Amino acid sequence: MKLFNTLTKNVEEFVPNVEGKVNMYTCGPTVYHFAHIGNLRSYIMEDVLEKTLRYAGYDVKRVMNITDVGHLSSDADTGEDKMLKGAKREHKTVMEIAQFYTDAFFSDCAKLNIKTPDVVEPATNCIDEFIHMIEVLLEKGYAYRASENIYFDTSKLESYYVFGNQSEEELMVGVREDVTEDENKKNKNDFVLWFTKSKFEDQALKWDSPWGVGYPGWHIECSCISMKHLGEYMDIHCGGIDNMFPHHTNEIAQSEAYLGHKWCNYWFHVHHLNDQSGKMSKSKGEFLTVSLLEQKGYDPLAYRLFCLQSHYRKPLVFSYEALDQAAGTYKKLKKRIADLDKEGLVDEAAVADHKEKFVEVVGNDVNTSMGITLLYDALKEELNGATKRAIVSSYDEVLGLNLLAEEETAANDVDAELEAFVMAKIEERKAAKKEKNFALADAIRDELLEKGIAIKDTREGVVWERV
Ligand code: AMP
Ligand code: ZN
Repeated sequence: MKLFNTLTKNVEEFVPNVEGKVNMYTCGPTVYHFAHIGNLRSYIMEDVLEKTLRYAGYDVKRVMNITDVGHLSSDADTGEDKMLKGAKREHKTVMEIAQFYTDAFFSDCAKLNIKTPDVVEPATNCIDEFIHMIEVLLEKGYAYRASENIYFDTSKLESYYVFGNQSEEELMVGVREDVTEDENKKNKNDFVLWFTKSKFEDQALKWDSPWGVGYPGWHIECSCISMKHLGEYMDIHCGGIDNMFPHHTNEIAQSEAYLGHKWCNYWFHVHHLNDQSGKMSKSKGEFLTVSLLEQKGYDPLAYRLFCLQSHYRKPLVFSYEALDQAAGTYKKLKKRIADLDKEGLVDEAAVADHKEKFVEVVGNDVNTSMGITLLYDALKEELNGATKRAIVSSYDEVLGLNLLAEEETAANDVDAELEAFVMAKIEERKAAKKEKNFALADAIRDELLEKGIAIKDTREGVVWERV
């Protein structure tokens, strides 16, 4: 596989730390409000990356945090705490807000076929780990105490702007302008690791620490949560492009200062979904959520297709006209697949060839639009319906578009059950043949035939069909 790495600004051959295994981390949502469809663009593309890695045969472990404390509205250390803002808006407690919007986030993800990562950990679960990392940073001289807050000292690093030749202004995308500087900071880019005395006198969640009762800064959570579950070496770290600075820059600073070695090898950043007036927002203009799209009659998976049609490293402009087009394409594509006949034997060799091609194409820096082109190409080929269906089903493991879903869930359950039964019988028959018990092998074949299943020995192995 090949991946564009924001650290080197090049498309590189992907080489994991341990052969065949991938440690992957995703910055999770700040659960103070619904996710907008821009946020979800990032999660859709990260989901495709994970699924492509699995499809290519890697054993992937993916971890995601849930930000339920410490994320201020500026992304730096100024502005209001987003969680507190959400709680005040809805007259609820911070934890109620966190639970509600965490559930809402995963419900949106399910509608968009975004797989839940193997580990999901809220920041408020890991306060002890945060305190430990901050203690080590203080011991090593990378952190200091000022006005009872603990700050990371960026002047202690050889290089702070790790994401290459980006200008400072370009890196400031996520930072609002109308904020006042924190006078306690020794250097402009120093950031808070732990707040005790601060302007948030009414902070809802506070914990005891060696430095007094307080709460963590935002960046520390991703370093700690990833190390807790993935260890000291990470293969891929994902997020939206606005996370590059200051969030990921600060994650790298504190993680590598803590570990004393390089931490993560590949940085995967998804560019923004913008509305026609510019950056997508939760506060101004129409707040575009999955539920809103559903209310307007769109299938959420049409939005997934819309995202897959363009490359994750290009900004994407949302408009209802563009979504209408994707929805039309989606409907036609599904109809075309539904119309494929189900007769004939699956040509397993052809399916394997197509899979190989798909890995090569989509595995080249998550080229999803080329993956969709491959799907259309396969539908045009001289192959029987059953084989085309098998190819579609295989590609859909990565695309996640429910392309064969006309067979509805109930029918799918029956199919899965039947398939498991037939596969078990085929294995039994294989074992019988190996032991030269041909009478038993024939009896199994007849038993299946009675149930309407014919099996056939081919050079590629045993295949079956309904008769
Ligand atoms: P947040 O909930 O604000 O922490 O953001 C969740 C994720 O969405 C992060 O990875 C952000 O980088 C990403 N994100 C924020 N805005 C957009 C956008 N307009 N398009 C794509 N991704 C975004
Ligand atoms: Zn993060």
